[in-house]
Amino acid sequence: MNTFEKCESNVRSYCRTFPAIFHRAKDSIVYAESGEEYIDFFAGAGALNYGHNHDYIKQKVISYLDADGIAHALDMYTSAKEKFLAKFDEVVLSSKKLDYRIQFCGPTGTNAVEAALKLARKVKQRSGIFSFMGAYHGMTLGSLSISGNIGIRAGAIGTSSNVTFMPYPYGFMETFDTIEYIETVLNDVNSGIEKPAAIIFETVQAEGGVVVAPVEWIQRLRNLCNEHDILLICDDIQVGCGRTGSFFSFERADIVPDMVVLSKSISGYGFPMSLLLIKPELDIWEPGEHNGTFRGNQLAFIGATAALEYRESSHLEKDVKTKELFLKSFLTQEIASISEKIAIRGIGMIWGIDVKNFGGSDFAKSITSRCFELGLIVELAGRNDTVIKLLPPLVIDMSTLQKGCSIIKAALNESLA
Ligand code: PMP
Repeated sequence: MNTFEKCESNVRSYCRTFPAIFHRAKDSIVYAESGEEYIDFFAGAGALNYGHNHDYIKQKVISYLDADGIAHALDMYTSAKEKFLAKFDEVVLSSKKLDYRIQFCGPTGTNAVEAALKLARKVKQRSGIFSFMGAYHGMTLGSLSISGNIGIRAGAIGTSSNVTFMPYPYGFMETFDTIEYIETVLNDVNSGIEKPAAIIFETVQAEGGVVVAPVEWIQRLRNLCNEHDILLICDDIQVGCGRTGSFFSFERADIVPDMVVLSKSISGYGFPMSLLLIKPELDIWEPGEHNGTFRGNQLAFIGATAALEYRESSHLEKDVKTKELFLKSFLTQEIASISEKIAIRGIGMIWGIDVKNFGGSDFAKSITSRCFELGLIVELAGRNDTVIKLLPPLVIDMSTLQKGCSIIKAALNESLA
């Protein structure tokens, strides 16, 4: 048995999807021990917006370690934390006139989602949550309970109660007015559904199959929450940190959620970190009501501060717009033109090729496998894994982006031959 086979038999991981032993990565390329190179259109499921080992961020991390910077400090105040808070306020909050308090949560996104659910319940003294069909919010019991996909909930025998799933617009429910429906439910005191403490949503359902909510819908959702005294929580874990062309994905709708959940690319380097942003008047937790050993990882603070510095000195948002235009025209002209049964959806630098009506999930799987053979790592998303999800690092250079796209086109064309 070789090392890879041993790994595959012992560990439950991505081995089966990407059969290689990876050992090095730089920018948008991942290198395997065998010498093969892969373009990365997966980017740690959105955790690597700045690519692998970004030069500027890496130097900051190395300097910090060289100076024996504190690696772990639990909740103590550190200079790494102080610098991050100052930079985050300057670059992300003050410049956008946003007023949020920051709660550091456990290492992964799901921890921050749990914090949002807990706080919403405490603030409103109600336990109900409305979420959306197709949503993905994490794998712990609370976040799993609000994930609108029975397939992934099968991993737990039953989930937390008092969650109501509403249809998510577009992509699946083109003609259904979700907001009107929620309004009807809320106005009907005998509907059998309690008024929730909060509604949690993604502006783009990423794991749900790259379904982009229209601006008007997001604005109506905000208004509905205002009118009914319900908190609005935006899960920006996957599509925040610049993925859609602005730091927060909700900026395009010009709304302000009551709470925002951030993780994945916030640390800039793939270090574990998650945050809950809370409107100040909602910050009612007593000390000790939400703590944890690995809240606020110090190296993540260093990476996150460097990433924000890099944002300031680069044209990241402008570059995302340029790459968005390329992706949109490539996918429309070169991929959707293969068959009218292929649907293309996306915004910024998250795009999906939905082959639900063009071969389905087995076909989608065969395309990603062939892409891997041709040197591209790309993953599937969607309720039934029928969406080939393009999620390259935001900093990917144009020629690598084009090369990755042409691999997908080649794999699709080969399948028709
Ligand atoms: N919310 C969204 C929108 C996500 O995409 C993810 C991860 N794919 C999560 C929550 C959960 O984050 P984590 O895996 O870090 O717990």
